[in-house]
Amino acid sequence: MRNARTLPALAYGEFSRRVHEQATGVHHVTNAQLELTYRCNLHCRHCYTDPYNHRDWIAQELSFSEIIRVIDDMAEIGILWLNLTGGEVFQHPRFWDIYEHAYRRGFLLQLYTNGTLFTDAVVTRLQAQPPFTIDISCHAVDESSFDWFTQVPGSFRAFRRGLELLRQADLPFTLKTKGMNWNRQQLPAIKYFVESFGQPFSVTTTLSPRLDGDLSSLSYRMAPADVATLQLDMMGGTPSEEECRTAAGLLQRPADRLYRCGCGTNTIHINAQGELGTCTLQYERRYSLRAYSLRDAIERLFQDIASLHYTSDVPCRTCELQSFCDKKPTEAHRECGSPDAPIPYNCDVAVARAELATNQRLIHPLRVSR
Ligand code: SF4
Ligand code: SF4
Repeated sequence: MRNARTLPALAYGEFSRRVHEQATGVHHVTNAQLELTYRCNLHCRHCYTDPYNHRDWIAQELSFSEIIRVIDDMAEIGILWLNLTGGEVFQHPRFWDIYEHAYRRGFLLQLYTNGTLFTDAVVTRLQAQPPFTIDISCHAVDESSFDWFTQVPGSFRAFRRGLELLRQADLPFTLKTKGMNWNRQQLPAIKYFVESFGQPFSVTTTLSPRLDGDLSSLSYRMAPADVATLQLDMMGGTPSEEECRTAAGLLQRPADRLYRCGCGTNTIHINAQGELGTCTLQYERRYSLRAYSLRDAIERLFQDIASLHYTSDVPCRTCELQSFCDKKPTEAHRECGSPDAPIPYNCDVAVARAELATNQRLIHPLRVSR
């Protein structure tokens, strides 16, 4: 009798790290985000997809069979992590057919949801075929603020009911918070609420223009000084300049590359109309999956992203604060008219963060004489 062989066990974190490290080196796509629909039962005031939650735009979304084809193509090229998002995923009329198909194809499924549509029936179906994780937005923990922000009365009660159902069902979920000017004072209460579910509190602060170019969502931005101190106040520390520089340096991008982040390495984003991009808000280059195969579109897209460079002598090109800065070229395009342009708000945040990290006064990048 042959000796029985056992597969070596690997902790999930180590498995994920190894896969991403190897994939990034060879530009192999392991992660995908797929927007199923822009339908949503809420109308959050900062939401970038909300203008497309309208029948004229919904009519242009991928059909059920197109979505299934895209999912099959993802499985073919070896994508492991699939994030289904919206809009609100549970508002897609064929959500369960899509979910169960993706589940059977073996993806590690991540659902983004507002948490207001969970029922006993939904939870029972998820228990039978559990997702890898469910990410739920949590920007307020009192009824009047929550319902004001979602513009839907009763949404807070539905959200609380949903969380209780998930907790009782022992399904894996994570709460994520966006820090804004209107909820800045409420963040300690939100942190307390999140931690009551045994979860670490995490908060992000970036807001984006809406997909139709409307900039009103940016009016909820937190003051730059508050963004800088948030990490200190709520997360128990601030990154050192050295840490920030090391993190940026690992990417080894040429100084004048437009995309200095990890865009175009191992992650793709597909919007509800089937346009392939590198991440949620990268709209400088997109390829329609109605015109190109997934494999072909990825190849073209990644080449395009790698070839985009600053074309003029703008401050961002040589900015020494770039490792403290959240600027994204498409947001610069929408807010300031060009992907090359500095975004004054992002400059203010970068200066505030850098001054906090280095404990010295710095020259604002837009006030440097050139
Ligand atoms: S729940 Fe999400 S998709 Fe719906 S309006 Fe709010 S932010 Fe937009
Ligand atoms: S801090 Fe300002 S100038 Fe520097 S990279 Fe960011 S947006 Fe550009």
